[in-house]
Amino acid sequence: MTLTFMPHQRTVVGALAWCRRWARSVLFSLAAASIAGLAWAGSAADFGQRIIRADSEPYNWLSHGRTYGESRHSPLADINEGNVARLGLVWSHDLDVNRGQESTPLVVDGKMYTTSAWSKVQAFDAVTGRLLWQFDPKVPGPAAAKGCCDVVNRGAAYWDGRVYVGTLDGRLVALNANTGKPVWSTLTVDPTQHYTITGAPRIVKGLVIIGNGGAEFGVRGYVSAYDAKTGKLVWRFYTVPGEPGKPDHAASDEVLARLAAPTWRGEWWKRSGGMGGGTVWDSMAYDPELDLLYVGVGNAAYWNQSLRSPGGGDNLFVASILALRPSTGEYVWHYQQTPGDMWDYTSTQHMILTDLAVAGQTRKVLLQAPKNGFFYVIDRTNGKLISAEPYTPLNWAKYVDKETGRPVFNPQADYAKTGQPFVGMPGPQGAHNWQPMAFNPQTRLVYIPAIEMGFVYATDAEFKVNKKAENLGVSFTPNLLPDDPQTKADIIKTIKGHLLAWDPVKGKEVWRVPHTGSWNGGVLSTAGNLVVQGDGDGFLSIFNAETGAKLWSFDAQSGILAAPITWAANGRQYLTVLAGWGGSWGMWSGEAGWGPNGVRLNKSRVLTFALDGRATLPARQPVQRSDFRPPDRLGDADQIKVGEVAYNRICVFCHGGGGVSSGVTPELRRTPLLASPNGWRAVVAEGVLAGKGMIGFKDVLSAPEVEAIRAYLIDRAHRQLETDQRKETGVAPVSR
Ligand code: CA
Repeated sequence: MTLTFMPHQRTVVGALAWCRRWARSVLFSLAAASIAGLAWAGSAADFGQRIIRADSEPYNWLSHGRTYGESRHSPLADINEGNVARLGLVWSHDLDVNRGQESTPLVVDGKMYTTSAWSKVQAFDAVTGRLLWQFDPKVPGPAAAKGCCDVVNRGAAYWDGRVYVGTLDGRLVALNANTGKPVWSTLTVDPTQHYTITGAPRIVKGLVIIGNGGAEFGVRGYVSAYDAKTGKLVWRFYTVPGEPGKPDHAASDEVLARLAAPTWRGEWWKRSGGMGGGTVWDSMAYDPELDLLYVGVGNAAYWNQSLRSPGGGDNLFVASILALRPSTGEYVWHYQQTPGDMWDYTSTQHMILTDLAVAGQTRKVLLQAPKNGFFYVIDRTNGKLISAEPYTPLNWAKYVDKETGRPVFNPQADYAKTGQPFVGMPGPQGAHNWQPMAFNPQTRLVYIPAIEMGFVYATDAEFKVNKKAENLGVSFTPNLLPDDPQTKADIIKTIKGHLLAWDPVKGKEVWRVPHTGSWNGGVLSTAGNLVVQGDGDGFLSIFNAETGAKLWSFDAQSGILAAPITWAANGRQYLTVLAGWGGSWGMWSGEAGWGPNGVRLNKSRVLTFALDGRATLPARQPVQRSDFRPPDRLGDADQIKVGEVAYNRICVFCHGGGGVSSGVTPELRRTPLLASPNGWRAVVAEGVLAGKGMIGFKDVLSAPEVEAIRAYLIDRAHRQLETDQRKETGVAPVSR
């Protein structure tokens, strides 16, 4: 891999550069102090000092997790268990695209900054909801096909009068917070590869820290720091090694050669479509006292280790937490949760920093509930494991050895070695995904949006590298739902989610609130003894933090994924959340009954609530869906099988299992294009709709495969029609 696209990379390491940066940041801090002082009397420090002291201005929500420790707990208590029944809508804003909305808003001195699908940024008068400006980075449509999980964005960062956003096509953009006009824009990725940005930047000591995604598409993960003022790259840390003997001239060179490279086997750097993964696509946290930046590192790529690193190995630093020096990117420690990961067990889930009394001793801890199902309490000063207890059912490991910090694997979990499919818990969606959790220092409980969803892991015997889709080395076919309605319904019943109140010291569940679906929204905790969470059914609900009793609920009409925030202005406390269904499970979930095939709307909105709010949403509109009007069946069983295999290799990730859409992307069983071989070819092979995100696939699908996919989808539509007719005649009803 070359770095010619980023020439200044070579100059960022070394003492001279460090001195220049130091001098620059001192000057920057001095200049910023006079500006910040206008809005924040009594300070001569940069915006980071405000984030460090976020509890002294609880009316704001200054950074992604509210504090650098990302607790997502607010000291505000005007809305509390005694009066929450009076909570009502104050304003709503319809977003311009109805897709997955995952953004945590920021509130800074009366203005609210949200991001939305396609990496757009909105600024509102927080109290009235009046749109002040919107920034559209004009992400090219084909960027959608580079991501696994919709065109989502999880939030912006604010720093000294500027708003920072990472775009789906890999840019980092600084905006003037008053006008929304770009101040600078930097390309953070090699645009020829499948990198995307969906995560929120964090800003520490004047450096904007940003990672990226794309492990399944074969990229090599890294995290970078850019000067907030100029957009210049200051350091980069690669999470997995490149070709031995060819340094990246990055902050990670030494530790990758010393610690990481010896844990890889074979010629991993040559694996097109599988450069190791380990992407840093979401979680970070910062401890200003220890001056440590914590970075959550994603899964390995390919998933199948026998193809990725034949012979095994831990494959550092995949599925790990890294502690780095924020000014330089210098490695300090790592803790790998899933050595040699082969189940998509990312460690990119939300991390919370707090102090806990453990065995009579106050410990500086890092709390994380990663995908692999264990809840980790880690000493954040040194990366040593304190405890790891299962917070959901899991079967890939027996337990985590407290002495070594390593999991004791279930031998059956290595599906490559056994040659047998492994019905794993959790599956790739995790026992917890990106949806933020929250920690309440009064109840000392962590509130986790937990998932129970298994997956059949089996080596893909027909695996070949695919430049335009996910490269897993694992077959999706065993995971597609069967046609038989009863079996299908039985399987769907096993896909569950719940809000879990977890005692991190005892390593035990305290209470849980089950949800209808698995994919529940991010969490907010408040000093009003409240836990706030949206769900896939489209309800925002508030629970008693000690008991889980439901105290209030609001029909948002659309699935909620994003985490709520709370803030205040003019002595009134508010609560804000984004609604909008999509994201990874959102795109898959059609087959499990979500989207227009079920009963759910998908209307993306920003919603703000306060006590005695009287605003209302427009009445629910009936879900519009076209009838099934498939053309006559096409081809024979062999051709349909070819189409099925090709569909599951290329199309399934965005259009859903079995061609069943959740409404986020078009329903292919219903598209009129099925009747037009030429129109079908123009879209699927030639890419005439690339501007909308539907790129052409003629370089990875043969002409017969393109036609076979059409035959497969026509067959799927006819099968659905037959099922519907049986249902109408009272035979074999579909229920969920
Ligand atoms: Ca992944």
